Amino acid sequence: MYTYKIYDKYGIKLLTFDALSQAGGIKHCFTTRKGGVSNGYCESLNFSKTRDFDDRNVNENARRLAESLDVDYNKLTVVPQVHGCEVKVIDEENCGAGFSKPRFEEGYDAMVTDVAGIPLMTLHGDCVPVFLYDPVRRAIGMVHSGWRGTALKVALHAVKKMESEYGCIPENIIAAIGPAIGIDCFEVDMPVYDELLKSFPCMAENERLAVAGRIPSKKQVSLPGLVEQALLEGGIKKEKIIDCGICTCCEENAEDYFSHRRTGGKTGIMAGVICLV
Ligand SMILES: [Zn+2]
Repeated sequence: MYTYKIYDKYGIKLLTFDALSQAGGIKHCFTTRKGGVSNGYCESLNFSKTRDFDDRNVNENARRLAESLDVDYNKLTVVPQVHGCEVKVIDEENCGAGFSKPRFEEGYDAMVTDVAGIPLMTLHGDCVPVFLYDPVRRAIGMVHSGWRGTALKVALHAVKKMESEYGCIPENIIAAIGPAIGIDCFEVDMPVYDELLKSFPCMAENERLAVAGRIPSKKQVSLPGLVEQALLEGGIKKEKIIDCGICTCCEENAEDYFSHRRTGGKTGIMAGVICLV
């Protein structure tokens, strides 16, 4: 049984989670490659201004996405992602950074807000997107968790920020894990494995989280699985964590999803967006 839907709206192909849609009170999506104006290996719905050398393409892609999702382009907010664990609180004053306003100078890998109408956007090309929504307190978060951010438990930091800023109770929070590199495609060297193992000792004993690599000196790791562990540690209920299970890196998904690893970095970048209404 699928936990998500993929649909076309105004020519843009988007993924949404049933659990978030059914909770009501927000708009959200994860983008695919389809429906934008970028060219070459960024074809076509790319959101990275460092990979597409023409900012106008990315701005146009963002405008199309905002229209498709029916959110305010002028409030669309992105942070400079640095594979850390800092969480930026977004409000009426600072929203719009990265599109209609200059980008933030400091790096962050997650955002939270309780202000309606501000679309939070993180950028992904294999790294794990996490959508957080507390329908009780009405607050949201959007997280970018690559392997370094996962080792630092950035998703857990975002949950804690929702608690400290907005008084959210973790057990009310719904967490959705979007398309990201899966365990079959994420082969890592031992230093990376060891770094992740320090944060998640449980992965040594859990074949859903890590297995021996095809090459003996390597391991295969599930970043979405580790992100789920971080969310559980934060007090989110297991039944409220939904993982779409789509691997961005698998060859069979190349038509729909960009992947940094599959292409050796010659790729565009997708977006996760969440917005309170
Ligand atoms: Zn794969």
